[in-house]
Amino acid sequence: MRRTGEIIGGERYAAELLELVAERAARLDSRVGIATVLVGEDPAAELYQRRIDSHAREVGIASRPVRLPADVEFGRTVGVLAELDVDPTISGILVLRPLPPHLPEARILRAIPPEKDIEAQHPENAGLLALGTPRFIPSTPAACFLMLDRYMEEAGHAPETAYDGVDIVVVGRSNNVGKPAAILGLARNATVVSCHKHTSDAGRLREHVALADVLIVAVGVPRLISGDMLKEGAVVVDVGINVMRDESGKSRLVGDVDLESALEVARAVSPVPGGVGPITDAWLLHNSVLAAERAAGEGQAVTAGAGLPRGAPGRS
Ligand code: NAP
Repeated sequence: MRRTGEIIGGERYAAELLELVAERAARLDSRVGIATVLVGEDPAAELYQRRIDSHAREVGIASRPVRLPADVEFGRTVGVLAELDVDPTISGILVLRPLPPHLPEARILRAIPPEKDIEAQHPENAGLLALGTPRFIPSTPAACFLMLDRYMEEAGHAPETAYDGVDIVVVGRSNNVGKPAAILGLARNATVVSCHKHTSDAGRLREHVALADVLIVAVGVPRLISGDMLKEGAVVVDVGINVMRDESGKSRLVGDVDLESALEVARAVSPVPGGVGPITDAWLLHNSVLAAERAAGEGQAVTAGAGLPRGAPGRS
């Protein structure tokens, strides 16, 4: 079959968002800053920390990468978060995962000050998001919907009704990606189905995926989704990041969706790499600016990743 779908790249949207973030950060001067807290040594997390650091500097946001040893005590970790809480030059805090096994993740996330919790990992922020009144929208699902909203808008759909009657299937239900993506879909009045490992184990992934007008895949299994599983004309957002090695040992990144076969059936596919990743980074910086604006009493409206920052979070 010939390829008919188009690729939705994320770089353009990321660049627009970064430009906006830089403008807003400039107004805030030294009050906007991002701290990333990494415990121990994890290559992917280290890479992410370096990337955030460099993007932040590019847009004039102060960046503080904090490194703690793998055997750091729980009390010391919470102490670092408390220090960042009272630091007026830090508006946003991100605790990177994975955490070492001796640090209880739920208790660490509860120790992030909610007003600086730019990934909405604290239960208070996760709850606010679920209620449709988010303080922050976590970066990866926000990036998915920023891209989808823009794509729908550019295809001529009115933002208020773009998802009416649209079936969104989200594969993956993690607290940081799949679950909030499903919530953001509901906030847009889509019909949302959430699939996960047990859906696959029960042999029912294919039948659910086949119903998707919009498919968001955040699993971490290379090529879990192939073109023959898709509904004709679906719009697909691939979030998965998987490192594949060829026979010569060279590594490359692939997503959870088999791009070539997907493009034969889908209307559009956001690929890996080059899809939501760059927008995710920009969104995190956007949230740091938002936090600083609120701390300065400027109270910018929170957004649901509807296009570039604007729009209401709970559209239902
Ligand atoms: P996670 O916490 O490991 O969650 C994976 C989810 O996938 C779980 O809900 C799991 O179901 C489900 N799953 C596993 N195997 C499955 C299968 N065979 N069929 C259907 N569902 C299956 O991962 P995550 O943090 O959400 O990340 C997911 C992927 O996105 C990873 O590859 C990650 O690297 C990538 N990612 C990318 C970005 C970005 O910016 N581009 C950001 C974050 C993550 P259960 O709940 O039933 O176990």
